[in-house]
Amino acid sequence: MLMEKNERIRNKGRETRNKRKTQTAKSFEIKLDKSKISKEKMDNLQRLFLEGKWFTNYIISKGITDSVPYMDYKVKKVNVKVKGKFEERELRLLSSQMKQYIINRLQNNVKALHELGKKGKKVGKIKYIKSLHSIFLMQYGNTYTLDMKKRTLHIQGLGDFKVIGLEQIPNACDITTANLIERNGDYFLHVTVYVPKEERVHNRKAIGIDLGVKDQITFSNGIKVKYNVEMPKRVKKLYKVFSRSQYNKETKERSKRGQKVLAKIKKEFAHENNQKKDVNNKIAHYIATNYEFVAYQNDPIKEWQRLFGRRIYQTSIGGFRNTLKRKVSTPLEVGRFAKTTGICMYCGYSLHLNLSERVFKCPSCGRVQDRDVSAAYATKYEGLSLWNVGETLADDDASTSSMLEYLKSIPHVKASIAGEARSPKQMDVAQEAPSVRAG
Ligand SMILES: [Zn+2]
Repeated sequence: MLMEKNERIRNKGRETRNKRKTQTAKSFEIKLDKSKISKEKMDNLQRLFLEGKWFTNYIISKGITDSVPYMDYKVKKVNVKVKGKFEERELRLLSSQMKQYIINRLQNNVKALHELGKKGKKVGKIKYIKSLHSIFLMQYGNTYTLDMKKRTLHIQGLGDFKVIGLEQIPNACDITTANLIERNGDYFLHVTVYVPKEERVHNRKAIGIDLGVKDQITFSNGIKVKYNVEMPKRVKKLYKVFSRSQYNKETKERSKRGQKVLAKIKKEFAHENNQKKDVNNKIAHYIATNYEFVAYQNDPIKEWQRLFGRRIYQTSIGGFRNTLKRKVSTPLEVGRFAKTTGICMYCGYSLHLNLSERVFKCPSCGRVQDRDVSAAYATKYEGLSLWNVGETLADDDASTSSMLEYLKSIPHVKASIAGEARSPKQMDVAQEAPSVRAG
């Protein structure tokens, strides 16, 4: 039986190790929301760190190398020196796993000191500690659990805690260990997760991207993407109810009903944010798996936000650009002041365009083109030359239409080819012409 069990654990370990080779580790800081934690639970949290300190000092006093982890982790009471006298303290919150880790860490420290000593360095003894600032939570699903929906952290033996920042954790990931941290009276969780490594493409295909306020994402192959995850009407109604709810100036609290409505509104916002992230991820994923070189301009999105506010907020194109940067094999960033608008994509003639001119006719070659597509096109070539990429493969019609199909399949996304609305005659010109500069 025991043999079988050991065998199983070994296999599981091997499986995990193989899986980790295809993954990257990331860590996130989650904050415990003190305003939503009861007095009793706060006391328990403080006590946990105190018990950790008592136990650490108990092991140090016993002699770290003499400690036998699987026996000492069963210790339920320790003697603590208070004003020169020893008093007994109960360990009621520190779990066996937490104790085990404290012992392991101390023993590793001793080993490290021993190694240093061998190298002829003078080393001191391990001293008693005055305070402990981190508790290791070894096993996700056992020592601790996160509930993304309820936005809570469950710690074994201590219960549930409301937390802030869970949305940073990606949907598809393996959550592993965590550290519970105390910092100036605030509590944090440092979670380590494993996410799949992005596959790198090597196909020497390049694409340029133009980010805008009106047509949100435009690609150099002529595809335009708009996506608005609109706030549903019921949220507006909820706002009205909330603003009418009573506010108590003394307690600085809304009425019960007001608080309930606010919770609902927050939930809607969180939902909307997740939808936006999802759309961003899907589009960026397609680009990253099909194009080795991706050029984009470092536009001042923050300033746009100030100017246009709501609309930018609804799409979070800043979020899209960051996702893209992270995912693509070779991002080609073009400076924010480089001129990319108003350059004819057929002959290179440069002119000044007003913000209202969405389509323009080149005064030199007479070709009509979409402002954003030509900007994406200019961005692509600016990026390629700026980063000395050399020759790239031309983008063909087949890949453009499969990209269009894919983008159309994403919820909330409207994708089209610029020019679909134009007259067929102009379409013809637009289709034959790019070969002049492609490749
Ligand atoms: Zn021209």
